Amino acid sequence: MSQNFEILLLPGDGIGKEISREAEKLLNWINYNTEFKFSIIYDFIGGESIDKFNTPIRDETLNLAKRADAILLGAVGGTKWENIPFEIRPERGLLKIRKELDLFANFRPAVIFDSLIDSSSLKPEIIQSLDILIIRELTGGIYFGEPRGIEILPNNQKKGFNTLTYTTSEIERIANVAFQVANKRNKMLCSVDKANVLESTALWREVVSSVGKKFPDIQLTHMYVDNAAMQLVRNPKQFDVIVTTNMFGDILSDCASMLTGSLGMLPSASIKATEKNERLGLYEPVHGSAPDISGKKIANPIAMLLSVGMMMEYSFNSKEINLLLKKAINNVLKNGNSTIDIQKKGDKILNTEQMGDEIIKQLDKLKNE
Ligand code: NAD
Repeated sequence: MSQNFEILLLPGDGIGKEISREAEKLLNWINYNTEFKFSIIYDFIGGESIDKFNTPIRDETLNLAKRADAILLGAVGGTKWENIPFEIRPERGLLKIRKELDLFANFRPAVIFDSLIDSSSLKPEIIQSLDILIIRELTGGIYFGEPRGIEILPNNQKKGFNTLTYTTSEIERIANVAFQVANKRNKMLCSVDKANVLESTALWREVVSSVGKKFPDIQLTHMYVDNAAMQLVRNPKQFDVIVTTNMFGDILSDCASMLTGSLGMLPSASIKATEKNERLGLYEPVHGSAPDISGKKIANPIAMLLSVGMMMEYSFNSKEINLLLKKAINNVLKNGNSTIDIQKKGDKILNTEQMGDEIIKQLDKLKNE
């Protein structure tokens, strides 16, 4: 029996639009070849929304997001909007949708495709078979804390300030998600903080340890963020699941992206998980709008396609389609195809559209095997 779902697609700015076209092709493939039937609703976020409506995200868009079964987002931002006030910058649209929908758990897997081992800046033996998951708290911490701003001091100097806060319940709910995920993987969880210097993250450590008592089978470790950054590059395979704050997760996951070869390979899921296990999810690549390559049609669409794969697994419970997609991507890369960001000697370089088409062709092939 077919199942009908509504997907809100927010392509956003720069390469966000280019990679979203490839996501549409994948959704169409899923529509034709599986029991899932998706209808796509399109709307605006980021710079494009500022240009059209003077705001990085409208209430109408937030309402569509609340009503949808899942949300797919390209990327926001660009040089054009760099000099406007912080409150209405494109990135604020992204922060607002995450906050309004209470998407507090951000999953950022860093998995290496065999064929990309040589694209990483690290030695093959350090990254071979790498499969780690960074869980980043997404709706609290320093990106949202008040007070914030830039003020003029009596001596005419300027002072910029932000506030890092976490409450017990904010930490408890992300810790619960992280322990549950670790339980389904290798039963290892590393919590990253800066408890030696920042009180709010000393509380983080205390609460994570306390939640850990409910999960005696999970091996919980704690690490300071500076050490974690170093260990991620020195020996990333020591980690399985990492849970950390909003800002530390932002930085560590970009660092982890280079383990896998390119920022263009990293998908993410931002989820609200309720006690009843209901899930609302927003899926997007980890990378931004890449103004330096926008319009050139050379962006790697794989992070976006893998985000659709995560959507299938996390929002629609279809791990099979995600696995099939990953296999198709691996085959395409193994056959010597790449985009410019992951190219190796002798590879055939494909543009964004060609890479999307090649992956669809592989999916057809795998389905008929
Ligand atoms: P970026 O992720 O856009 O780009 C960093 C580098 O990676 C660039 O050299 C870019 O060309 C490359 N890159 C990124 N994605 C790629 C892809 N799919 N294929 C090939 N190469 C890729 O980060 P940035 O340059 O720091 O930021 C640009 C804009 O994006 C800024 O306005 C920033 O605020 C915004 N941004 C948005 C998001 C988001 O929408 N989630 C995330 C990060 C940055």
